[in-house]
Amino acid sequence: MEELEGYAKVGRALALILSKWSSAIREGDSLLHVAEEIEGEIRGLGFKPAFPVNLSLNEIAAHYTPPPEDCSVVQEGSLLKLDVGVEFEGYIADAARSVYFDDRHERMVEVARQAFEAATKLMRPGTRIREVSKAIYETIKSEGFIPIRNLAGHKITKYKLHSGVDIPNSPTLSFYKIKEGDVFAIEPFVTDRECSGLVKDEKIAYIFSFKRSVRTSSSLEKRILRIAAKDFHGLPFCARWLISSVSRKGLDRALSGLVRKGGIYAYPVLVEVNSCTVAQYENTVFVTNNGPVVLTEL
Ligand code: MN
Ligand code: MN
Repeated sequence: MEELEGYAKVGRALALILSKWSSAIREGDSLLHVAEEIEGEIRGLGFKPAFPVNLSLNEIAAHYTPPPEDCSVVQEGSLLKLDVGVEFEGYIADAARSVYFDDRHERMVEVARQAFEAATKLMRPGTRIREVSKAIYETIKSEGFIPIRNLAGHKITKYKLHSGVDIPNSPTLSFYKIKEGDVFAIEPFVTDRECSGLVKDEKIAYIFSFKRSVRTSSSLEKRILRIAAKDFHGLPFCARWLISSVSRKGLDRALSGLVRKGGIYAYPVLVEVNSCTVAQYENTVFVTNNGPVVLTEL
């Protein structure tokens, strides 16, 4: 099966990277340094990052990638979600680990992993998505935690990280039936029971992706649009990836201009509504007639 081989190749590279980095990161490490090291490693292997490395601390659930002059570090006693994507010729693997620096986070992180396991067992042809969501929801609740209800796993296709079918972390009316050959990222997000269990958009976004060609008089905006469509194949990107080919000056303004004109999407930083700490565990899973193949675990 050619498709499985393509996905297995990027999946294995990602599994190795996550295994290495989830034990290498230390309190005080610069997020910018970690993100650039990991992205450099992916490129060094002959692959591409499928999206900017996400390093989301504590109550930040997702979508934080360090901006070009970022000074933030891994805080003492924190919980860090390391979420990485690897792409090769359109095949994408997406996976995340929660790294923690205080034992009080241990159970929440373990419950996110258990919810992933419960969901993955159901990834067989014929299963409906809502059964998978139910398994995630019930595993998390039965352990005394709650899921983040407005975050979801997602179907992956060639060059498409989010291909239109979601696996929400709480049951919905989704009627989609899983098929042989489907590839899904399953990603339970867990927080404490007394929290909202919802994330909201921050006002700032560091991750973008191509939406459509729009008219603009700015040559910088034109260049960014071309790079976003052609070099990044419509996959998510960040300012750090542009400063080698366009000038830093005016870059932030050009990005917000393009968002306003509808040329690119912005993915705002997502934080838990009550500022509660959030844990995540994610792997990419390939569905065969013999059952699920987890591509991003060693
Ligand atoms: Mn991810
Ligand atoms: Mn994902």
